[in-house]
Amino acid sequence: MQDPHDSSEPTLAHSGYVAVIGRPNVGKSTLMNRIIGDKIAIVSPKPQTTRLRQLGIYSQPDIQAIFIDTPGIHEPRHKLGQFMVQVAIDALREADVILFVVDMNTLPTDEDKRVAELLNESKTGAPVILALNKIDRSKPDHIMRNVEAYRKLVAEDADWATLSAQLGDGVPDLLTRIVGKLPAGPQFYPDDQISDTAVRDIVAEIIREKVLLNTKEEVPHAVAVEIEEFTERTPKLSYVRANIYVERDSQKGILVGKDGAMLKKISTEARIEAEALADTKIYLELWVKVLKDWRTDEAVLRRLGYRIDRS
Ligand code: GDP
Ligand code: MG
Repeated sequence: MQDPHDSSEPTLAHSGYVAVIGRPNVGKSTLMNRIIGDKIAIVSPKPQTTRLRQLGIYSQPDIQAIFIDTPGIHEPRHKLGQFMVQVAIDALREADVILFVVDMNTLPTDEDKRVAELLNESKTGAPVILALNKIDRSKPDHIMRNVEAYRKLVAEDADWATLSAQLGDGVPDLLTRIVGKLPAGPQFYPDDQISDTAVRDIVAEIIREKVLLNTKEEVPHAVAVEIEEFTERTPKLSYVRANIYVERDSQKGILVGKDGAMLKKISTEARIEAEALADTKIYLELWVKVLKDWRTDEAVLRRLGYRIDRS
């Protein structure tokens, strides 16, 4: 997979995609947030409305584990549900490791069994780790029985671990196991990028689109948008601060407009669309900055996300 002659692509000892799958409500998102740590502010669009999978990127020296949080696999009752299940199945195809999350306080439900079937059908060859979650609530008498019941759903040699995503117990151990199964490979994302790439990128594109729609030839192609912060303040409100880069002062003047009117218009239009996408209120703060010749500056280009997609 890796080109040995391409020295620009660093090789990490462990790198790859980890699909986090399971029925709804077992703690997939909680687990991913716990692994990525408090630094992350994952934008959590409601699974019913989003078509995006959520990425959580865990980077350490020599390690990059990219977690793909998926909508819960359930028996779809409508088209959208089918689509969500498809998102989860697609994540399986990409995965180097599959993390099958279950709630160990109940015996496997039909939905858990359905997930296991999908795993077996998809035959990706990726190793499965069974994450038996919510041990903090377990009755000691039931632990062995339930662990055995879940282990029957996966391959005999599949790795497994009990944990509490909520309290963090068992999570470092689980993480060690996950990382140990990731092959050597490239660094897919800058090591300071931890939040949901897809939503951020799309919001940046929305802002750029509004700039393009509201200006004429003088500006458009010199514009780049960088999301500097994307924080979920509450489940219903996210704070987004973005920079709009232009190459010349004159372009900045156009974008800001008289008394800031143009920037306000761009901001309002972008916010409305971004809110619909993320299904939250968004507090959008836009700054116009002059970055001379950014289009020829490799470091800047990389930072702005204009890099070759290696996935
Ligand atoms: P998902 O649908 O699989 O992504 O599940 P969520 O991460 O949204 O969690 C569903 C519910 O389970 C939430 O109320 C979580 O707070 C709760 N939860 C997640 N992990 C744990 C855990 O380890 N212990 C307990 N007691 N609750 C948990
Ligand atoms: Mg979730």
